[in-house]
Amino acid sequence: MPEPTDQPSSSTERVQARRCCGSVSFRRVFQLLMFAALVLVLPAMSLSATPPALIRFNLNGHLQTGLELIRIGKESVVIGRDGALHSLDPRDSNEYLGRAKGEYEPLGGAELANRLRREFGDRFEVVATKHFLVVQPKGRGRKWPDLFEKSHQIFVRYMTQRGVHVRRGRFPMVAVVFPDSRSMYREFARLGLDVSRVAGIYSNNTNRVMTHDSGHIQMIVATVRHEAAHQSGFNSGVHSRVNDTPRWVTEGIGQLFEPAAMGNVRAGSDSRSRINRESLHQLTKTYGRFDNTTFARDLRRLVIDDRLFDGEPSIGNAYAIAWAMMFYLAEREPQQFASILNHTAGRPAFKTYERHERIADFERIVGGSTADFAKKLAAYLRHLQG
Ligand SMILES: [Zn+2]
Repeated sequence: MPEPTDQPSSSTERVQARRCCGSVSFRRVFQLLMFAALVLVLPAMSLSATPPALIRFNLNGHLQTGLELIRIGKESVVIGRDGALHSLDPRDSNEYLGRAKGEYEPLGGAELANRLRREFGDRFEVVATKHFLVVQPKGRGRKWPDLFEKSHQIFVRYMTQRGVHVRRGRFPMVAVVFPDSRSMYREFARLGLDVSRVAGIYSNNTNRVMTHDSGHIQMIVATVRHEAAHQSGFNSGVHSRVNDTPRWVTEGIGQLFEPAAMGNVRAGSDSRSRINRESLHQLTKTYGRFDNTTFARDLRRLVIDDRLFDGEPSIGNAYAIAWAMMFYLAEREPQQFASILNHTAGRPAFKTYERHERIADFERIVGGSTADFAKKLAAYLRHLQG
């Protein structure tokens, strides 16, 4: 694993490191569901039909209560009162303490702020905004709280204008700003996140964005806009935290919000300023003027499954195509843009999104084959290339 640096040395490394965002902890549950469905010859959803129960659990010596969202064999997925998701072993009586009385109630802002103060100690302060609790080193002012709050408001307006269903989240969103990359990586190690050379991440399990306040600030802020879009998406119902959402959908949205123009209140009223130049450059480098079939082939692969995101050399192209698909839809076909997001967010929890369903849903929503869509998208990208 490369040494952490304050500044990612290239955009590819930055992109590569984003692999950790998303529903990593549920991979086991999804695998179990698939396994159980095969072995028991049962539809996957019949396994998660029991209503969620309130349970008590022990997290590193702290007793907590939370809602059990699903339990299959060796794994129970529980959402804590702070909105964090935990994967517990129901057979471990030190960790999994059984049913609790009462109803699930998310922590209020003041209670969560107190918990964060205890967690991060004297050197940090907790600054509240309308939607966030921002943990930052003492005396850093309003720069970060304002950035997170503004990014979220821009995200909500952008989605609402295009007909995407947005709801108010149940938890204050938590963003943690570390003083430098070294302390940020210490936290990643504590959380078991295997990630390097990155300016920040959104972690689905903790439901937190984590970044740091040193190094190349413009690059950090572009990454924070990307990660903040994930956090806004997963906390406003644009994505579901317990769904098998295609990576091109979530990463396409993250990429959409990276350009600096997407961080000001008018959200890039000049359309060319909304272009993610890094992604367009990556596409030009790989596919030139899109005059052969590799672009359509890769786009189809991205719709079918997430394997293009699995590593070099395809991961850079995966992010770039995901951006292009979402950008084209958002700019030219906002109804389809909204339909894709509303459909993927509305699918049942913990149900594997099978390859044939992914392709059938996509083609139904965009009204044609992936090849037709790739052709339209290529023409649009040539226009952006100039
Ligand atoms: Zn991302």
